[in-house]
Amino acid sequence: GSLLWAQDLRKVYGPTPALDGASFSVRAGEVVAVMGPSGSGKSTLLHCLAGIISPDSGSIGYGGQDLATMSDARRSALRRSEFGFVFQFGQLVPELTCTENVALPLRLAGVGRKEAQRAALEWMARLEVAEVGDKRPGEVSGGQGQRVAVARALVTSPRVIFADEPTGALDSLNGERVMQLLTDASRETDAAVVLVTHEARVAAYSDREIVVRDGKVRDMAGTV
Ligand code: ADP
Ligand code: ADP
Repeated sequence: GSLLWAQDLRKVYGPTPALDGASFSVRAGEVVAVMGPSGSGKSTLLHCLAGIISPDSGSIGYGGQDLATMSDARRSALRRSEFGFVFQFGQLVPELTCTENVALPLRLAGVGRKEAQRAALEWMARLEVAEVGDKRPGEVSGGQGQRVAVARALVTSPRVIFADEPTGALDSLNGERVMQLLTDASRETDAAVVLVTHEARVAAYSDREIVVRDGKVRDMAGTV
């Protein structure tokens, strides 16, 4: 069955709804690409699924729990422990070294310094950025920085990885490396990936593509 699903989400900001009856589901280990034109509601869908914003109506289920009606505190706790995030611009903390950036989610979860550092180094090696561990984000290339951001998203062993245009700021070679490493990691850890992209060559790394148009979802395989 699904690990994370949403049914009939509606979210209105202005005169036209950002989400207008959107449904979605993803299984453990599955990579779903969310495609569609700019302004169609992709980011709003991702933010609802991730519990960052609440839909006006509709239901969101995660492992038998109802995200839509859960308290903010519980939703934040769930987000920190079960979800990982990668954005277009890595959003690394500029004052910290790359290793400290990757270790940060574990430190915030209460993991000791030594253990967090060990796990960070392991993930950086897997993302092929061990050599930039002592540098600050401003001193590494865009591709390296984004792989550090992916390592940071994976270090807590999330069950769901939300990636919003993760390759948007990269050239195609670096973009493909990031996608290969991200999807390899998802396969190894059985993490689901919700990947927002408008690039077909990025979506090609997914198991399934859906298209959002005018706040509604069309599943390319048929029904949602
Ligand atoms: P399958 O094994 O066929 O994938 P799922 O359990 O994943 O079945 O659910 C299929 C669809 O039903 C999901 O995409 C989701 O939208 C919806 N769904 C799943 N669980 C619930 C629920 N508890 N309440 C309402 N809809 C649900
Ligand atoms: P996409 O990610 O597909 O580009 P978005 O989900 O960002 O689309 O936006 C969908 C619609 O909702 C757009 O019309 C956008 O202007 C609007 N929207 C999104 N977020 C906000 C917000 N915080 N305030 C007002 N309007 C918003």
